[in-house]
Amino acid sequence: MYCTPTETRKAKKQHQCTNCAEKIEPGTTYARWMSVDDGSGFANKMHMECLHSLIDENGAGFWEYTPYGGERPNV
Ligand SMILES: [Zn+2]
Repeated sequence: MYCTPTETRKAKKQHQCTNCAEKIEPGTTYARWMSVDDGSGFANKMHMECLHSLIDENGAGFWEYTPYGGERPNV
């Protein structure tokens, strides 16, 4: 499995955060990258605060998370 570099994007339409499953509203900034496993890709889209809390917990290197199983941190 590998991941593409994380891009920071501005949402043009509504997305769903793959960490906390809450909405990413249009006009807000979110993080996006692909994880590829055995030829099938998964598009990760997260609130910046969700990504940062996972990095805080796991470090900046390789980590896994449970899609839609996380909690949105309070900011
Ligand atoms: Zn989130």
